[in-house]
Amino acid sequence: MKTILVTGGAGFIGSHLCEALLKKGSHVICLDNFFTGSQRNINHLMGNKDFEVARHDIIQPIVLEVDEIYNLACPASPKHYQFDPIKTLLTSTVGMFHMLGIAKRCRAKILQASTSEVYGNPAVHPQTEKYPGNVNMLGPRACYDEGKRVAETFMMDYHREHKIPIRIVRIFNTYGPNMAMDDGRVVSNFIVQALRNEPITIYGKGKQTRSFCFAADLVDGMITMMDNTIDFIGPVNLGNPHELTILELAEKIISLAGSTSKISFKPLPEDDPERRNPDISLAKEKLGWEPKVELDDGLRETISYFRRLLKN
Ligand code: NAD
Ligand code: UDP
Repeated sequence: MKTILVTGGAGFIGSHLCEALLKKGSHVICLDNFFTGSQRNINHLMGNKDFEVARHDIIQPIVLEVDEIYNLACPASPKHYQFDPIKTLLTSTVGMFHMLGIAKRCRAKILQASTSEVYGNPAVHPQTEKYPGNVNMLGPRACYDEGKRVAETFMMDYHREHKIPIRIVRIFNTYGPNMAMDDGRVVSNFIVQALRNEPITIYGKGKQTRSFCFAADLVDGMITMMDNTIDFIGPVNLGNPHELTILELAEKIISLAGSTSKISFKPLPEDDPERRNPDISLAKEKLGWEPKVELDDGLRETISYFRRLLKN
């Protein structure tokens, strides 16, 4: 039985990943500082004898014996990663260094949850892994973007210097149950606003685009990447190429939620990327992976999740 460390395991994606890895018969150690993660996301796993939880901050060193590491620890929503930007930088740099230390000592395979934000405000559409990105290293998003870029560099240098088996996935906007209600991301914001029949807050004119991947599809891609036997280390884009404007997303959510909400336009945050769309040719070619869940179906499931949450 493999022992697998999932950092950020109580977060939105991490909780789905822990559940999927347990289903595959692994022993899972979920490590989290509970900054944006929540006990509620992992409560249903607590009775499982192969599930352990450790409250720990990866900025501090830790000694563990594991076979694999999925490093997801890092706040992902702009609101939360900008709350304490220095801490965000330290999580993706010092934290990454500590996780690579465990990988080196245990000869464990390590997967880094990188992000489409390494492409910044991209000048190339859709984004391929070869595109080096267009990041403003001085702006308010830099603590996240540059931290994740350094984390990728750390991964590559440990791989070259210490022969650590690595995997790098660049995750594009993902949504689904277990998103935090207050994390400020667009899908959770719009759904909660729609269910409360409150104004839907569109930043800017809503012409900016994103492409949304359902959490179950993403987790499947992450595990397929970790387990690939052709030693494909990435980086590889994981996301859903279905691109739409934020205005279209708002209209879709209002309709699916049966809401009477009206749209309210707010100022566009600094450095907000104009377009984002993954080219997933490499994932298809190397991993045979592509997302399966249609946006409408995934949104319906997410709306049901938030409906239940708002009732409690
Ligand atoms: P999330 O905020 O729900 O989860 C992050 C988890 O990491 C939380 O449980 C949080 O408490 C924990 N954490 C944060 N800092 C930590 C630290 N220093 N030590 C220990 N735990 C810490 O976010 P998510 O959406 O589940 O994202 C998970 C990972 O995927 C992140 O690394 C994020 O950058 C990456 N990612 C997510 C998306 C997305 O659309 N959700 C897109 C690109 C990349
Ligand atoms: N956004 C919006 N209203 C909201 C929250 C977000 O219009 O209430 C916009 C935001 O400006 C961005 C897009 O939706 O253009 C996606 O934002 P999110 O924070 O979810 O992710 P990211 O910007 O990191 O892709």
